[in-house]
Amino acid sequence: MATEKFTFQAEVSKLLDIVAHSLYSHKEIFLRELISNASDACDRLRYAALTDAALTAGDTDFKITLGLDKKAKTLTITDNGGGMSHDDLTEVLGTIARSGTQAFVDQVAATAKDGDKKKGKDAKAGNGMALIGQFGVGFYSAFMVADTVDVLTRKAGEKTAWRWSSDGKGEFTIDTATREARGTDVILHLNAKETEYLEPARIETIVKQHSDHIGIPIILKGDGTKKDGDRTLNTASALWTRPKKDITAEQYQEFYHHAAHAFDEPWMTLHNSVEGVVSYTNLLFIPSAQPFDLFHPDRKAQLKLYVKRVFITDDCEGLMPPYLRFMRGIVDSEDLPLNISREMFQHNPQLAKIRSGLANRIMAELKKKADKKPDEYVQFWENFGSVLKEGLYEEPENREKILNLARFKSSTEDGWTSLADYLGRLQDGQEVIYYITGEDADAMAASPHLEGFKAKGVEVLLMTDPVDDFWIPSVGEFDGKAFKSAARAGADLDKIKTAERDEKKDQAADKAANAIAPLLAQFKVALGAAVKDVRASERLTTSPVCLVTGEGDMDARLEKMLKQNRQAGMPDLTARVLEVNPDHSLIKRLANRAKDGDGKDSLIADAAHLLLDQARIIEGEPVADTKAFSRRLSAVMESGLKA
Ligand code: ADP
Ligand code: MG
Repeated sequence: MATEKFTFQAEVSKLLDIVAHSLYSHKEIFLRELISNASDACDRLRYAALTDAALTAGDTDFKITLGLDKKAKTLTITDNGGGMSHDDLTEVLGTIARSGTQAFVDQVAATAKDGDKKKGKDAKAGNGMALIGQFGVGFYSAFMVADTVDVLTRKAGEKTAWRWSSDGKGEFTIDTATREARGTDVILHLNAKETEYLEPARIETIVKQHSDHIGIPIILKGDGTKKDGDRTLNTASALWTRPKKDITAEQYQEFYHHAAHAFDEPWMTLHNSVEGVVSYTNLLFIPSAQPFDLFHPDRKAQLKLYVKRVFITDDCEGLMPPYLRFMRGIVDSEDLPLNISREMFQHNPQLAKIRSGLANRIMAELKKKADKKPDEYVQFWENFGSVLKEGLYEEPENREKILNLARFKSSTEDGWTSLADYLGRLQDGQEVIYYITGEDADAMAASPHLEGFKAKGVEVLLMTDPVDDFWIPSVGEFDGKAFKSAARAGADLDKIKTAERDEKKDQAADKAANAIAPLLAQFKVALGAAVKDVRASERLTTSPVCLVTGEGDMDARLEKMLKQNRQAGMPDLTARVLEVNPDHSLIKRLANRAKDGDGKDSLIADAAHLLLDQARIIEGEPVADTKAFSRRLSAVMESGLKA
């Protein structure tokens, strides 16, 4: 068969370009990536052989071999794993199958450029690398050190072998080849500058540092003489089966890099064994940075499941709830059947036990951290709090725990606060937890809705995650205190007594409210269906008006979000209540005019519409009818000049 020529998928070419130019400061990690692939190939074959023993017949001792050839300037990584067929080669070594590739590659390219501009070359290398690492560019990292890469491979159970070859510059070729048994050789024709990777001592150091945790032997081939025989470089027992005291922080970190395709340090490491009805060992990590696909719509957890040290799958939905999908690492079960199938993941009661055991453990460890090291805990919360909060409505049995772990921005406190701390600061007569949702904490803190709360020193939680609009209605309360939106009518502010507030003031407020009653009536007529009601406000101190949600109506932001997602049959947004500040001088003057007028005053009608538009603008909403708005604004300004 003639040589076949292929071009790389466009994203791969882009990635290869980034790889070639931005990873130079940690080039040696290419070896970790290739060893990791070899180990994965052995893991997958071991699993396949559980149901088809013929696949590994004649050779069940999995191993990875490294061969150095100083004359030919090649470094060869050999494994006796599952190998690749012709189709595998074109599908996996020429494309990137993972979702979101295009967007991701663009992001990497942009960051690499930014870093270059801002902090020079090192930053570029660092950023590009962190991002690529998350993406698991893996195999392509070979082109950091090699001018040409050959992959000689034969798939288990097949007779034909193939040679894939590329210089990483846009094209690759595939030929038929011969290989005695199943498995893969990745042959790196090293660049003239990279001869250090032909030195046995250098290779040994790299393997010990980055790949010691690999569960099968990594053997450095000698020259065949007695003096220089084959040597196993790694400990070759799965890291999680070793006693904790024998594992260094560096080894944990390397394992995390391998398991999570990450380059950051783990923020927390959870390594423990559980014995009981269901026995398992977990080695889990919480990353210190957000993985790039954290908000991917499939919300999949990415743990690897092993049964008795045999790798089963990295796609096991039942193992970790979606709201803990930031966890990385492995779970090794003693009790699950080795031949567990995909369908069984959904309904296996043992798996369900493991899942709840893991979730409890994670939350207990988070609680400990939050209590003992609140400053470090904030880093976790800023990365993953918005994901964890999804559990508030998805898993009611863990609601209390998550509420206790939750942190919020507040109108009166700096930094983050817990709900327990909020309750400790309740004012006399305050029965509820006030909150407001929106895009931006600073803008919310300055919103007219909070004026009355500020005047009374009542704290309002500022919630900026879209998920907040979803969990609050389903959670309802914390420690017996209901959540209540500060942007909602009937905020019950007058029940809260503060030192300055006395009877006299209350009476004055009532009087002011009575004085504007005729104005409110005329506003209502003018605005019609555009508002649900017009009322005197007890919350406003400096702004003339604001819009609040009516009792029983859906929170405005939630409604907007649902509408954006085009929920079926949603009518126009529900009209809200316009609250009017009786103490504001503009309102007082309008009220005077309304009291003496005949109810058909066009200035009052224009003012009503303008004030409503103003309230909308403050909330970041567009003016509905810009023509009418301009006409009214001109008319009112003109009448001001006449006076
Ligand atoms: P990842 O390991 O994250 O899947 P890589 O770029 O490292 O990404 O590898 C791409 C794919 O190439 C692997 O998923 C696997 O299918 C295939 N592959 C790479 N190396 C080997 C190997 N030694 N044996 C079998 N398949 C391999
Ligand atoms: Mg890989």
